[in-house]
Amino acid sequence: MSNCVIVGINWGDEGKGRMVDLLTERYDIVVRYQGGGNAGHTVVNDKGKFALHLLPSGVFRDGVVNILGNGVALDPENLWKEIQDVRSKGICITPENLKISNRASLLLPWHRELDELEELRLADKQYGSTKQGIAPFYSDKYQKKTVLAGELFYPEELKSHLRDLMEWKNLTVTGVYGAEPFTADMLEEWFRAFCEPIMPFVCDTGSYLREAQKDNKNIMFEAQLGALRDLDFGIYPYTTSSNTLAAYAPIGSGLTTADIDEVIGVVKAYSTCVGEGPFVCEMFGEDADRLREAGFEYGAKTGRARRVGPLDIVATRYGVEVQNASRIALTKLDVLSYMDKIPVCTHYRLKNGELTDRFPFPTELETAEPVIEYMEGWKCDISNIRNWEELPEAARNYVTYIEDAVKCPVAFVSVGAERESIIIR
Ligand code: GDP
Ligand code: MG
Repeated sequence: MSNCVIVGINWGDEGKGRMVDLLTERYDIVVRYQGGGNAGHTVVNDKGKFALHLLPSGVFRDGVVNILGNGVALDPENLWKEIQDVRSKGICITPENLKISNRASLLLPWHRELDELEELRLADKQYGSTKQGIAPFYSDKYQKKTVLAGELFYPEELKSHLRDLMEWKNLTVTGVYGAEPFTADMLEEWFRAFCEPIMPFVCDTGSYLREAQKDNKNIMFEAQLGALRDLDFGIYPYTTSSNTLAAYAPIGSGLTTADIDEVIGVVKAYSTCVGEGPFVCEMFGEDADRLREAGFEYGAKTGRARRVGPLDIVATRYGVEVQNASRIALTKLDVLSYMDKIPVCTHYRLKNGELTDRFPFPTELETAEPVIEYMEGWKCDISNIRNWEELPEAARNYVTYIEDAVKCPVAFVSVGAERESIIIR
């Protein structure tokens, strides 16, 4: 049996979905263990092009069981719409290949609304939320003010639990934000339209996973976002509201007994960051536009233009450390093929003038300046290359430079969005 966690090393959108889709060939089970429907995991394979939000990226492989663990923000509305959307493209989603933890907490109708109301209140001080209700959801989860998916099977108890929560939440919705209150009818309609359809997928995935472990099944854990968005170890408060680190996989998946054999950290060949927050290596102007167009850096969930920059060695080394990555999958190397020379951010210059290669405390990020060095470009199309030896020397130098700098071997080099556009070393 082998366990593997696939995580983002940076700010997210590194290409985790693409790597999960590729590597699930060797796995029996894929579990999403944190985050919610604000994810955009793009997968391009023989079945088409998909942007997955909540569904694990193993849904395209026959025989792979996909699990939404207790750590995810389970939004019945988003999930049911996504299931229907993916099904309409010919992908089979049944209770056999999709299982939802009965201990996953439900994202309730007011969470999305509160996300929006709070971002509006913040005006020019927004966190850059995807407005999917993730932050209000997790705060309510830790306040014990939401319901578990398993409660759907107890309609009487659920009804009164939801009513109590709604009365409490309406105090905030109306009193703090001056918005319209939620009603029992709205909740009933929500239950009928989105909760009932997902009930066949809800089960005790914790015991399922422990059985699978006993049967020596290969289990993959799929993370959302990246190390720098981790609630505890990222660029707080511009983080997400869950733990994106591999170390959280045993808890959030429900396999608390998991021994992690391997952590594959996905790193993009340059940097992108969506939303607000300090992004030290950010590029602006024409250079940024060119890179954004070359990499088509627009959010899979929101369509927002992503901020772009050169590969940030300082942030990436930190990401590798906190993720405890054993191997790196370097994605989108093909995107850099147009560059004469390739910028790399090697150090930060802090406000006090100090030069550092250590990722600083979040407060220091706001004023840190990037120190940029240049490497030679390769100036040719590499998207059809499948062997390491065939990569131009300058491209190989770029890859080996990265692994030396961040102290982790690059095991996969991705040169295209399609499943087979990969160089395995
Ligand atoms: P995730 O959130 O980490 O799964 O990443 P996203 O799917 O949000 O963003 C990665 C984007 O890059 C998607 O549009 C992928 O189809 C695309 N992609 C992934 N790997 C490669 C690659 O090696 N080359 C190119 N050109 N595109 C890639
Ligand atoms: Mg994404």
